[in-house]
Amino acid sequence: MDIWQLNNRHEQLEYQPTGRNGSGQHRYSAFPRHDNRYRLALAADREKTVEDRRIKDVVVLGGGTAGWMTAAYLGKALGPTVRITVLEAPTIPRIGVGEATIPLLQNAFFDYLGIDEDDWMRECNASFKTAVKFVNWRTAGRPEPKPRTMAGGTDHFYHPFGLLPNHDGVPLSHYWFRNRWLGRTDEAYDYACFHEPAMMDALRAPRWSDGTRATRYAWHFDAQLVADYLRRFATERQGVIHVQDEMTDVKLGNDGHITELLTKGGRRLPGDFFVDCSGFRGLLINKVMEEPFIDMSDHLLCDSAVATSVPHDDERNGIEPYTSAIAMDAGWTWKIPLLGRFGSGYVYSSQFATPDQAAEDFCRLWGLDLQTTRLNRIRFRVGRNRRAWIRNCVGVGLSSCFLEPLESTGIHFIYGAIYQLVKHFPDRSFNQSLIDGFNREIEIMFDDTRDFIQAHFYFAPRTDTAFWRANKELTLTDNILEKIALYRAGLAINQPYTSAETYYGDPGAEFRNFWTNGSYYAIFAGLGLVPDQPLPLLDYRPASVAGAQPIFDKIRSGQQRLVRELPANYEYLRQLHGKE
Ligand SMILES: Cc1cc2nc3c(=O)[nH]c(=O)nc-3n(C[C@H](O)[C@H](O)[C@H](O)COP(=O)(O)OP(=O)(O)OC[C@H]3O[C@@H](n4cnc5c(N)ncnc54)[C@H](O)[C@@H]3O)c2cc1C
Repeated sequence: MDIWQLNNRHEQLEYQPTGRNGSGQHRYSAFPRHDNRYRLALAADREKTVEDRRIKDVVVLGGGTAGWMTAAYLGKALGPTVRITVLEAPTIPRIGVGEATIPLLQNAFFDYLGIDEDDWMRECNASFKTAVKFVNWRTAGRPEPKPRTMAGGTDHFYHPFGLLPNHDGVPLSHYWFRNRWLGRTDEAYDYACFHEPAMMDALRAPRWSDGTRATRYAWHFDAQLVADYLRRFATERQGVIHVQDEMTDVKLGNDGHITELLTKGGRRLPGDFFVDCSGFRGLLINKVMEEPFIDMSDHLLCDSAVATSVPHDDERNGIEPYTSAIAMDAGWTWKIPLLGRFGSGYVYSSQFATPDQAAEDFCRLWGLDLQTTRLNRIRFRVGRNRRAWIRNCVGVGLSSCFLEPLESTGIHFIYGAIYQLVKHFPDRSFNQSLIDGFNREIEIMFDDTRDFIQAHFYFAPRTDTAFWRANKELTLTDNILEKIALYRAGLAINQPYTSAETYYGDPGAEFRNFWTNGSYYAIFAGLGLVPDQPLPLLDYRPASVAGAQPIFDKIRSGQQRLVRELPANYEYLRQLHGKE
């Protein structure tokens, strides 16, 4: 009942709203503004406006990781005010890869949904990922899973998660480099500055036996199981509607907004807002909204993959608590250890290897029989839509953007997008500033990561195959060139001006400044690219330089303790998954 019905006849005569103005709101010119009745009438009318303008029906097209993550996240963020429907074609398979992640997944996504880490880990056959280990990115040679020997050690380095400690306002990386430049240490950056490398070499779990965290880590999992787990969560606990049917047509209104999806089975799914999670097909955002996809193969050459699951004797070999990225002739191969098997795929450039060549090299790497191994052959597009959100349609997941999977950013981009979507969630007026703000965030998140990944290939010293040589011919963007100039001059790149606690406690801060100095250093120094000179400031601070030494000593003793006291990853995972 609104304010008009509540008033008596006398008051109604007195109020006389003078109709609606151009923007559809009532005018209250009949009342003096200081009159309390004016305020009440206005408030009631605005309540009604809110109700009228609210998005009531969200339709998500696609039931892959992107579709179910979006449905569950929106379900939590918007609650029962909005009805959410996921339309998934049972006949069109999910991509089924996407097994490695980034730590933000727990605090930005699962914690937000109230899902306990061990719960989803058990349901999704998950294991731990404490870093990416880069193998043979520096030395020439045939593909092999073990690091080759090179001057000063073996050809591998880790890209661990986590911020480096600052000392006197300067990241530890800079003290390490100064020591190295002056010949005071021959330790590699990752082993000198992080706690994790030694425990990873020793195949330890990143958790103590009592289940508490010993280091910062992410996860490997079975991508199909994750989508199924989230489907159950969203449908059973949040009331998300699941429709299994294939979309065959789309109806548009006069304003170009999507009004409903039509299916093969004769269903009509009307909605106010549509999220395209249809994968690389981009059925709504590219095909219906006709938003162009910006191809970025001029930055990243890999466009194909051949993948399979390889059985593994965990008891004998242990389980590696990291993703490996093994350099190949025309790209690289991922190795993602799970209980009883590892997922693996050769990501390659079709300009430099045919599918048959790639399959052959991949099978040879793992000693698999080319004739009998079931291989999943994938072709992908690299780049992003010019705009992720147009009118009442937003793309999330592969329909929106994709970078080759070197730093496992696919799922990260999904929760980056849904996090931003909730922050910018519209009403039916679809305020353009909300849309533009969202699109800008996606653009920055994506392009910054593209540049970071391109730098991996560009600065890898290998030139022994056409693929590695071609990467050196590509153009770097001004964004990464500026960062490299800072790095060469001895300065920090993207050092967050905050503590690890604040940084990791605020997904917004982390999204905006995702690849920090520690990551750039890990890749650049790991590939052998070091600054031209140490940070000049340190020459003026001998006390500060001396004060950094105990931090390095503490890291070394911390590493030994982790190796000594952490449980074996294999045993920990078996226990977690109830295998004994
Ligand atoms: C080679 C490769 C390796 C990768 N590795 C990683 C990794 O290690 N880490 C990571 O984070 N990410 C990785 N990714 C990315 C990751 O796989 C995706 O981001 C993630 O799986 C999300 O996919 P999606 O849901 O967007 O698409 P899909 O899984 O393709 O799902 C599309 C959905 O749309 C539905 N659909 C399509 N057409 C219709 C229709 N007409 N009607 C109804 N439904 C329809 C399908 O049924 C399906 O449910 C990788 C990707 C590739 C290609």
